[in-house]
Parts: sequence; structure tokens; C-alpha cells
Amino acid sequence: MTSTDSPDCLFCKIVAGDIPADVVASSDTAIAFRDIAPKAPVHVLVVPREHYPDVPAFAASDPEGLAGVVALADGVATELGDGQYRLIFNTGPKAGQTVFHVHAHLLAGGELPGFA
Ligand code: ADP
Repeated sequence: MTSTDSPDCLFCKIVAGDIPADVVASSDTAIAFRDIAPKAPVHVLVVPREHYPDVPAFAASDPEGLAGVVALADGVATELGDGQYRLIFNTGPKAGQTVFHVHAHLLAGGELPGFA
């Protein structure tokens, strides 16, 4: 499935430039933009340009693309923070996924709360 197959997808529209976003970095295969409701001093979403619903589908179809998302996130974390960060892929509604275009939450820029 590609981004053109998902005309109603919010992040496909951001990738296409049809919805504005605060883009902080991009590559041929992925873009990084600030989350509209930040949960950390640096909260950036890193998404592949191609549409995949979640990270297992992305990893199965395009492992190099997934590596590219991680590399772009790492670069953003170094540029906007101190290179220490958390990467989260919410997968499925019970895990809190609300946008079904795979995205890494990059959280950085300070002491992050631990998990319970
Ligand atoms: P959750 O809403 O539980 O974090 P997801 O893991 O699916 O679910 O993450 C979707 C993220 O997209 C949220 O953090 C939300 O704040 C962010 N978001 C929604 N709309 C926009 C937008 N237009 N620009 C930037 N971020 C957005």
C-alpha cells in the first residue's frame, strides 16, 4: 500500500504538503515533524513517506525504510536535543494508536518519566 492509496490518511496529507506541519527534517523516504500536542520538550513524529498502517507491516515490507526512520529520528534527537531519546511506536488502539500511518514518537530534550 502506498501513500496514494490512502487519500483520507492524515499523515499522508502531511507528507504530500496538503496539511501544514512543522517539519524539522526529511529524507527521500521519511519526514520528521513536531507533534501538535507535545509530551516532552522535544516531541517529533517520524513517518515514512509511504503509507503502512503500523510498524510490523512496515518492517515486513520495507526493513530498510524502517532503518531510515530510526536514522532520521537519531539525527533529529542530536540536532534538537542531546542525542538521548525514547522512540515509541504505538501499535493498535489498545496501545494508544490513533493515526494508522506508522509513526515513531521521538521524545527527548530532558529527563523522561520512567515506565510504571
Ligand atoms: P496518540 O494520539 O495516542 O499519541 P498515536 O500514537 O497514533 O496516538 O499518535 C498520533 C500523534 O499524532 C499524537 O501524538 C497527536 O498529537 C499527533 N497529531 C495529530 N494530528 C497532528 C497534526 N496535524 N500535526 C502533528 N501531530 C499531530
